[in-house]
Amino acid sequence: MTSDFEAQLRKASVRVTRPRLAVLAVLHNHPHIDTDTVFSLVRADLPTVSRQAVYDVLHALTVARLVRRIEPAGATARYETRVGDNHHHLVCRTCGAIADVDCTVGHAPCLTASNDHGYVVDEAEVVYWGTCPDCMSSSTAQQSTSSEGTHERHPRQ
Ligand SMILES: [Zn+2]
Ligand SMILES: [Zn+2]
Ligand SMILES: [Zn+2]
Repeated sequence: MTSDFEAQLRKASVRVTRPRLAVLAVLHNHPHIDTDTVFSLVRADLPTVSRQAVYDVLHALTVARLVRRIEPAGATARYETRVGDNHHHLVCRTCGAIADVDCTVGHAPCLTASNDHGYVVDEAEVVYWGTCPDCMSSSTAQQSTSSEGTHERHPRQ
């Protein structure tokens, strides 16, 4: 697996370093984790790595598009190695669990906006908010309807 990650880095013209390989491996095995979790998991493998180094690696890998950064509203940024398919996410409102969802119809149809206003679209953020099966089964009483309304993201003006 390490050689796969090496090949990915080389293909993206990113220098191969142990922290970069470690971050890719951690994210491959633990998708959708935040920076702190990446840091503690990488530390288990590379005890001398600094928090700043992990931040820098996440940034470099995101820029190189080897890692995708997602930031559900109200949550800290999460990272994953599944890139390039514009897949979507289910997010549990209760525990924050995140699951991958393929584009609903075929390959990344959400990248085709009904009116793109001349923008070149490379990503569409679709988040399905709800309650995960674990939280459903652990809540005996049905939660009353949230007064917060929807959590759909609107671009900040
Ligand atoms: Zn949950
Ligand atoms: Zn994902
Ligand atoms: Zn889609």
